[in-house]
Amino acid sequence: RGDPSEQWREYRGAPTGTDIECEGWRQEAALRMLNNNLDPEVAEDPENLVVYGGTGRAARSWDAYDSILSELRALEGNETLLVQSGKPVGRFTTHERAPRVLIANSNLVGKWDNWDHFHELEAEGKIMYGQMTAGSWAYIGTQGIIQGTFETLAELARQHFDGDLSGKVVVTAGLGGMGGAQPLAVTMNEGVCIAAEVAEARIDRRIETGYCMEKTDDTDDAIERATEAAQAREPYSVGVHMNAADLLEALLDHGFVPDIITDQTSAHDALEGYYPSGYSVAEADELRTEDPEQYWMQSLDTMERHIDAILELQDRGAIAFEYGNNIRGQVKEHRGRSDAFEFQGFVPAYIRPQFCRGKGPFRWVALSGDPDDIHRTDEAVLELFPEKDHLRRWIDLAQEQIQFQGLPSRVCWFGCNAEGEGDDKLTERARFALRINELVALGEIAAPIVVTRDHLDAGSVASPNRETEAMRDGTDAVADWPILNALLNCAAGADIVSVHDGGGVGIGNALHANNHVVLDGSELAAEKATRVFTTDPGMGVIRHADAGYEDALDEADQSDVPVPMRDQ
Ligand code: NAD
Repeated sequence: RGDPSEQWREYRGAPTGTDIECEGWRQEAALRMLNNNLDPEVAEDPENLVVYGGTGRAARSWDAYDSILSELRALEGNETLLVQSGKPVGRFTTHERAPRVLIANSNLVGKWDNWDHFHELEAEGKIMYGQMTAGSWAYIGTQGIIQGTFETLAELARQHFDGDLSGKVVVTAGLGGMGGAQPLAVTMNEGVCIAAEVAEARIDRRIETGYCMEKTDDTDDAIERATEAAQAREPYSVGVHMNAADLLEALLDHGFVPDIITDQTSAHDALEGYYPSGYSVAEADELRTEDPEQYWMQSLDTMERHIDAILELQDRGAIAFEYGNNIRGQVKEHRGRSDAFEFQGFVPAYIRPQFCRGKGPFRWVALSGDPDDIHRTDEAVLELFPEKDHLRRWIDLAQEQIQFQGLPSRVCWFGCNAEGEGDDKLTERARFALRINELVALGEIAAPIVVTRDHLDAGSVASPNRETEAMRDGTDAVADWPILNALLNCAAGADIVSVHDGGGVGIGNALHANNHVVLDGSELAAEKATRVFTTDPGMGVIRHADAGYEDALDEADQSDVPVPMRDQ
């Protein structure tokens, strides 16, 4: 991939302020978002272009990164740049209302859609792993996932406990880009978290940024501190420097059963994401280079032990759920263990009711780099939705406890929930975006705000082991939906549209799409925002209505989303 680009070294994050290098704010937004993804505060391993999620990259090589920047600087307001697996491949005249950048990452034709073929092409520099928000330049660091993790645990607490996790112990693993949100999401829900992580530097990073409280490398010590905090009903988190499988087996040996057990190691990638037991990180990295096959086998051995321990803890009374890293799929596929699926996935368990209403991780980024701009958007959320107590709680907690990484950003789960009459009936996403666009026009916000979302959203993913696991009508693997979502985002005029294979669950296991809309205060931005933030959450409603979910049909009625053939 070459040596890190000189430009990247000079930027060390997104350019900020109100002067722009590109021909317009839509192109400038793409340039800033790409550089924000590769900000050392945001990315897990930026020198290797890795943003998060195992090997999720923002550009295929450093030459490709330089070329994307040159193309964006030259891009006119009526042109569209095409990026194929992290490399710019074309630029065409389109029109002002069309997207400025179209991105496709990691996609392979069905029969070839597997890690082996992907790795062959990747070694030849012909493809790139885009993960979800890495290759679409929408990653905003651990702050982007925190509300999703917080809401998932809050829903679990509502279903199984008294609405919070006080006095409860959550055991998990993986303190990387996404997984690093777990300890803070647990303590925000008043609970206690023990998280195994093999890379000590990752634990240190989470402690430095306020996501985790303490660390240890001793299981007894971790159990003692966690038990004490749980008995006192104090929020507490500890990173345990060890392999996840080893930690869980040690807990079983001690007869310690947590209330909740989950995992966010990068198990979706057995070669470059998950670490086998018995090695330090440096030793394992060496084994991977010298003998990748041996690494892969040992990595799967550890994953199988990891699954066995989760199932045993579940038998002993813990609530177990897979947290979207396909560890169950890996052990089933490569070890023939269908019993791996005897614990549930987090989407059917805790998230699908929100997807039925078009709700998902909606987020926005202040291109000025000024935290005051995000604080003004926080006020706007509270002014627009004064009746939503949980939103107030979320904004208060976020302001108190979440440090900005790179460009200041905020995430809030919004969906359809349309209100108003006739043409003025607008979804909550559209109402929010239009208000922010006004604030930019009025100068109350210094520079444009980019609104985007996770690929893990209501109507944008086909992923049978995660977002579409156990769909009511058995359409888990139907991938027409994310493709329609990407096409609709183009038709509605989003400024960046992307479609990826792989993501959180690995090559061949998911297709998903994303969008960005740049709110620069203009009439054009208002027009785009109204359309995109109606159609995009609307896709979530029709996808789930089509599968027969009553909540989705109810939302369609409330939000005026047409559902053809709904009674057939
Ligand atoms: P990451 O690669 O940045 O971090 C993974 C971490 O796991 C690393 O720090 C690594 O050292 C650690 N690790 C790997 N194997 C281990 C083992 N056996 N024991 C202990 N630690 C180990 O990845 P991430 O961005 O944090 O994502 C984690 C996983 O969650 C990925 O599979 C990702 O696709 C998935 N994911 C889930 C969601 C969600 O919403 N639930 C969202 C995004 C990603």
